[in-house]
Amino acid sequence: MKENASDFISKSTIKAADKEHRRKINYNINKYNSVVPQGKQQFSDINLAREKAKNLKWKAIENLDKQLEKFEANITKRGAKVIWAEDAQQALDAINKICKEKNCRTLVKSKSMVTEEIHLNDFLKKNGIESVETDLGEYIQQLDGEPPYHIVTPAMHKSKEDVAKLFFEKLGTDPKLTPEQLTLVARKVLREKYVQAEVGITGANFIIADIGAIAVTENEGNARLSCAWPKTHIVVTGIEKIIPSLTDLALFWPLLATYGTGQKVTVYSTIVSGPRQENETDGPDDMYVILLDNGRTNILADEKQRESLYCIRCGACLNACPVYKNIGGHTYATAYSGPIGSVITPHLKQMDDWKHLSYASSLCGNCTEVCAVKINLHELLLENRHEAVDHGNSSFAERMAWKMWKQGMLRRKWMNMAGGSTKNWIVNNLLKGWKEHRGEIDFPKKSFNQAWKEKYGNR
Ligand code: SF4
Repeated sequence: MKENASDFISKSTIKAADKEHRRKINYNINKYNSVVPQGKQQFSDINLAREKAKNLKWKAIENLDKQLEKFEANITKRGAKVIWAEDAQQALDAINKICKEKNCRTLVKSKSMVTEEIHLNDFLKKNGIESVETDLGEYIQQLDGEPPYHIVTPAMHKSKEDVAKLFFEKLGTDPKLTPEQLTLVARKVLREKYVQAEVGITGANFIIADIGAIAVTENEGNARLSCAWPKTHIVVTGIEKIIPSLTDLALFWPLLATYGTGQKVTVYSTIVSGPRQENETDGPDDMYVILLDNGRTNILADEKQRESLYCIRCGACLNACPVYKNIGGHTYATAYSGPIGSVITPHLKQMDDWKHLSYASSLCGNCTEVCAVKINLHELLLENRHEAVDHGNSSFAERMAWKMWKQGMLRRKWMNMAGGSTKNWIVNNLLKGWKEHRGEIDFPKKSFNQAWKEKYGNR
């Protein structure tokens, strides 16, 4: 077994038995579940809205090359510079080069999963640049030296008491502060960082092709400050974030807010279409947009998996997943966790190293049921398993076991020849993983055929 897979299994085993973890997650996910229906009420037909969003993303992704070039042409006209990065290293090098040119010592960063994907903070630290997370959840995680736990709510696994304790340990505040007081402490620290920072980095929730702009949604205003306060603004975004037109935001913004946090629309919704223009008073002198591939074109090339690029990162599939809720976000050891992470990570990285994530699913389909853009997530998880086997990424023992299973299942007589105790022995001893996590199986003494015959004869 690969190291990643055995790590995943040992961490999952510990987390699944951690009742305190489960209590906190259930508390926060229950709060989410209670507000999402309210957000949905703004749509006259929520299913139609999801279908329409899926169609729009389909249109954008099927024409990805043209849409991206259109975006580049339009935003360049307004003075932004577009940088194409094939992989994480190219993106990091580009950021480093800009930071050097701008003599950057402190950088403020708003929440961005793409920057987690390329491990930007570690890279900046090695290069002597202080990178400060300005989203409250991300700031908490950074203080604690932990990566985000969830793609929308980074500190979802922490209670307010945990945060008060953390602030007390790291910032010397009163350990009994309320959430409001803690927020004010973070606000004070972060405001000073905005003033110091030479560069601000944000992600993009959407890249808009027809007007050449990025759209950012948030609830704290920190992304807007990161865009506008420092003299240089760098956007790092995956190429799949493209949408064809500004008018599409009328659908995507409320949809993302509803499925992300149960809101009608987030508190701050910002469109940035370039650096400060002549006659404008606010905004940065320079704006760079880094369009990151980093494995996304592998997904694009795979006709079946392509629809995973429609994802708008609302996080709904994580909240709905029984596996995620039990093993938690950090167990995945990837930037993107939960069902969508399990679908895309083997393609963004290596199938052989990450295929185990696609097996960590009951295939209950709850993720597909709740997906804001109707991605067939559970089918894609199954497809990943097919691809892993087709590419030879399965062990000899596993292949043999399934071969024998298939032979047995195709021959009723063989199945009937073995009595209940033989079947018990095979399943409980040869299929070791089964017994370890689920308890022993006890087959009936008589086969189904025998039982049927005794009851109904040869009907
Ligand atoms: S796959 Fe669907 S539900 Fe999951 S984060 Fe993406 S858009 Fe949201």
